[in-house]
Amino acid sequence: MEIVLASGNKGKLKELQSKLGHLADFVAQSSFGLETPEETGSTYLENAILKARFVSEQTGLPALADDSGLSVDYLDGAPGIYSARFAGEEATDQENNDKLLVSLQGVPHIDRGAAFHCVLALVYPNDKPDPILCEGIWRGKIFEAPRGKNGFGYDPLFQPDGMECASAELSPKHKNQISHRGKAMSMLASRLTEQDD
Ligand code: IMP
Repeated sequence: MEIVLASGNKGKLKELQSKLGHLADFVAQSSFGLETPEETGSTYLENAILKARFVSEQTGLPALADDSGLSVDYLDGAPGIYSARFAGEEATDQENNDKLLVSLQGVPHIDRGAAFHCVLALVYPNDKPDPILCEGIWRGKIFEAPRGKNGFGYDPLFQPDGMECASAELSPKHKNQISHRGKAMSMLASRLTEQDD
């Protein structure tokens, strides 16, 4: 089965390809010259469906979208669905991380709880069959300074619960086994395998 990956985020594309690549023929939306549509939804679920539906409509193929983000307890859940643009529309990962560190300046480590959320939506042309929706959550804390070089986004600041290191210090394989996206992808892999049986 050919599935278009409805994302322009290189970090996400790498993680999706490496864990799901054996289940389908994945093609990036950039191969069709498509850009990501404006994320006008108010939840991860709405945005994931909106992105996948746009790409499926444009290509006539099934499309898989990821909407994800980081919710920080001390910031009442921010940046949440605005994680990619926390420091502004065109913000870099570095600028978003810097803004997060400033927002949490002086907050003790124990009060720096946070969670990564990921919703995956696999949408078929004309919604036949129904979309497959999968979710994953990964809890941890926000470090006081960045650590590690792997991953993307907020990985250098995220300390997964039960670990001493940052998620950017995990190998890509290890992160993909335990992360929010890893959990959602495992669920999606089971659903796709069930369909084949
Ligand atoms: P989206 O493209 O609107 O889904 O934005 C997702 C944003 O959430 C990314 O740009 C990152 O800032 C953040 N994010 C999501 N997943 C991860 C992850 O696995 N590691 C680090 N940051 C992530």
